[in-house]
Amino acid sequence: MMGGRGKDIGSGYYQIDIDEYLQRINVNKIIEESEEKRNSMQKNGLYGRGSTSLLKKCACCEKYTIPVNVEHAICEVCGWIDDEYQNMHPESNKGSDPISLNMARENFKKYGKAIVL
Ligand SMILES: [Zn+2]
Repeated sequence: MMGGRGKDIGSGYYQIDIDEYLQRINVNKIIEESEEKRNSMQKNGLYGRGSTSLLKKCACCEKYTIPVNVEHAICEVCGWIDDEYQNMHPESNKGSDPISLNMARENFKKYGKAIVL
């Protein structure tokens, strides 16, 4: 058998009830924790990935990953650092990113990430 979490679901209803119960507790915990994190992030003026934050297209991979109100945000898909100058000047490597946007796009096509060292 490969991987798995070793749960024996076929061993009776009692077992399943406990599993469900524990899962529910875990889910509540996770929701509480992420709520807390989001609140403190918004307080500090950081990302704030709540429903209120708007995302724009990453200049490199073209996924909607860049929060509009954050300067020099890093794309979580390709790793491109959102730099207005470099976005406007795709041949330039003078900015937050060590390489040009054109090169980053090539890298993303080949390796699935913008910056390959
Ligand atoms: Zn990207």
